[in-house]
Amino acid sequence: MRLILLGPPGAGKGTQATRLVEKHHIPQLSTGDMLRAAVKAQSPVGLKAKAVMDSGALVSDEIVVGIIAERIDEPDAHNGFILDGFPRTVAQAEALDALLKRKGKQLDAAIELKVDADRLLARIMRRAEEARAAGHAVRRDDDPEVFKTRLEAYVRDTAAVTPYYARSGLLREVDGMAPIAEVSAAIDAILTVRV
Ligand code: AMP
Repeated sequence: MRLILLGPPGAGKGTQATRLVEKHHIPQLSTGDMLRAAVKAQSPVGLKAKAVMDSGALVSDEIVVGIIAERIDEPDAHNGFILDGFPRTVAQAEALDALLKRKGKQLDAAIELKVDADRLLARIMRRAEEARAAGHAVRRDDDPEVFKTRLEAYVRDTAAVTPYYARSGLLREVDGMAPIAEVSAAIDAILTVRV
């Protein structure tokens, strides 16, 4: 099963992806996680990406497409994967289509977690508060100001990705503001029909 989870930062894509990994035994490919690992390792990609990520803007298509192209070639991704945080631009979506086509593979579904921007901001502020209260570091890009920039980047660049998948008939929508278990059940219902 090859699946894309779409939706703005903080919509719960990571939470749902983690659950789907356990259920379907396929890896979650999160470009955000991979980029954070590159930053930590101070690799050439990480060094290039750090400042952009800290500001909440998008890393270049070239970098993220390169990361994904390598990652989907690894053995654990041969039977499928869950993309979380990629594609974020139409150019990335087109590059993914081209990559899969060359391998004779297809996507099964693109599931959008639909959310309300104001309630999302409240949710992200709560996440930062909870992390602080638990003595954990708050992700630099979960700072409310940076988060606003991430939301703006989503609206400007990523909102066009949803219609892209609507045109190919792969798009399915789920209410991302519903409780986690309900979101999970809605996704499972979609996948039972599709896959
Ligand atoms: P995330 O954890 O998915 O919200 O990603 C954190 C940050 O990594 C984003 O704010 C971007 O700076 C960068 N990033 C992650 N995935 C992508 C992508 N597909 N395209 C461009 N930038 C990305």
